[in-house]
Amino acid sequence: AVQTEYHLTDMEMIRTIYRPRDPFAHKGTYGHALLVAGSYGKMGAAVLSAKAVMRAGAGLLTVHVPGCGYEIMQTAFPEAMCETEEQATFSAHFDEPFRLRRAPEYDVIGIGPGTGTEPATAKALERLLGLWQGPMVLDADALNILSKWPSLLQLLPKHCILTPHPKEFERLFGATGNHFERLELLRSKAAELEQYILLKGRFTAMACPDGSVFFNPTGNPGMATAGSGDVLTGILTGLLAQGYAPKAALILGTWLHGKAGDLAAAVSPEAMIASDIIGHLANAYAEIQQ
Ligand code: AMP
Ligand code: MG
Repeated sequence: AVQTEYHLTDMEMIRTIYRPRDPFAHKGTYGHALLVAGSYGKMGAAVLSAKAVMRAGAGLLTVHVPGCGYEIMQTAFPEAMCETEEQATFSAHFDEPFRLRRAPEYDVIGIGPGTGTEPATAKALERLLGLWQGPMVLDADALNILSKWPSLLQLLPKHCILTPHPKEFERLFGATGNHFERLELLRSKAAELEQYILLKGRFTAMACPDGSVFFNPTGNPGMATAGSGDVLTGILTGLLAQGYAPKAALILGTWLHGKAGDLAAAVSPEAMIASDIIGHLANAYAEIQQ
C-alpha cells in the first residue's frame, strides 16, 4: 500500500541512522565506490564530488573521467584511484565505452557531475545500465541525459537515488503550477518509478518509493553556489558505499551536507564556496556524536 506520510528529519532520526565505525574495520569494510564524472572544462565538478565521497567515509574510490581529466584528478585528489577510456589520450567527453566489465566489482556507482550530455555519453550510460543493477546515485548531467532520452529511465535499477535541483526536476518530469503540485508530482514519480527522488532547495524534499516524504531542515543560502550539488552527490555515494540503505543514506547524507554548509556559512554565507562544505563535513559528523 502506498503511504502519504510527511516527516521532518530531526536529530533523533539522524542518531538512529548513524553507525559509528567498527574498531576492527579495514578499508574494505567501507566499500569501493565508482564515480563517473567530469568533462573538458568541468573537471571541478568531478574533483569536488570525489572528495566528498571520501570525506563521507567510503573505503575506496575509483573515479572514471574522460582522458582530458586524468592528470587533473590524480593531481587534485591523490586519495582516489582514477581510470579513463582504454586508448584515450585526450578525450573531452566519454566517447569510448567504459571499462564496463569492471562495474560489478564496485559497491555503488555515482554518476553525472560535469559529464555533459553528448550522445556518446548517453550511449555509455545506457551500456552501464545494462551491466549494473546495484546501488546508484544519479545527478546533474546523468539526469539531463535521462530527460533527453527518457527511455533510459526504464533501464535504471530500482531504488536508485536521483538528486535533481528544480530545473533538472522540471526537465525530467515537466513543469507544475505551484509548489504543492510539484511536491505531489515528486511523490507520485518516486512511487511509480520505484526510485528515491530528492528535490533540492531550502528544505530539500526526499520522496521514497513507499510514498513517504522526508524534509531536510539543514542548509542555507550560502549553499546557493556552484558545486554544492556535486558535493551532495559525493556524500550520498560515499554513504551507500559504506552499506547504508538508500533511505538511510538519503536522510543522513542530506542532513550532513546541510549541516556542513551551515558550519561553513557561519563566518560568511557570501564568501563560502562548495569546497568549504567538504571542509566542514568532519564537524557535521562530530555534531551527531555530541
Ligand atoms: P546544485 O544546484 O545541484 O548545485 O545543488 C545545490 C545544493 O545546495 C542543494 O543540495 C541545495 O539543497 C543546496 N542549497 C542551495 N540553496 C539553498 C538554500 N537557500 N537553502 C538551503 N540549501 C540550499
Ligand atoms: Mg547540480
